[in-house]
Amino acid sequence: MHLLEPDEARMGKRLLDLYTEVDDKPPWMRFVRNTGERCAGLDVSSPGKYPCAVYESRPEDCRIVEPGSPACLEARRLGHLGTSVEFRRRG
Ligand code: SF4
Repeated sequence: MHLLEPDEARMGKRLLDLYTEVDDKPPWMRFVRNTGERCAGLDVSSPGKYPCAVYESRPEDCRIVEPGSPACLEARRLGHLGTSVEFRRRG
């Protein structure tokens, strides 16, 4: 997930330092860091739940995907994160 200026302001320096990084080439966009194949914000200390450690401050792109929505469940399925359902495209 990439961050916009309002996302950076909402997260603040501490969370930016902990969970994000700036790309090393132009246009030097800031992203939520990955830990292995997962978002660094994903709290893996609760097996089967995987809450977001920065939920209240999460980037706008993350807010577009509602918890439990088909897009959310598909992302979880692709990331092998617990029980989920197949995402079926409509139409
Ligand atoms: S909502 Fe998901 S993708 Fe966004 S920061 Fe949290 S764990 Fe990462």
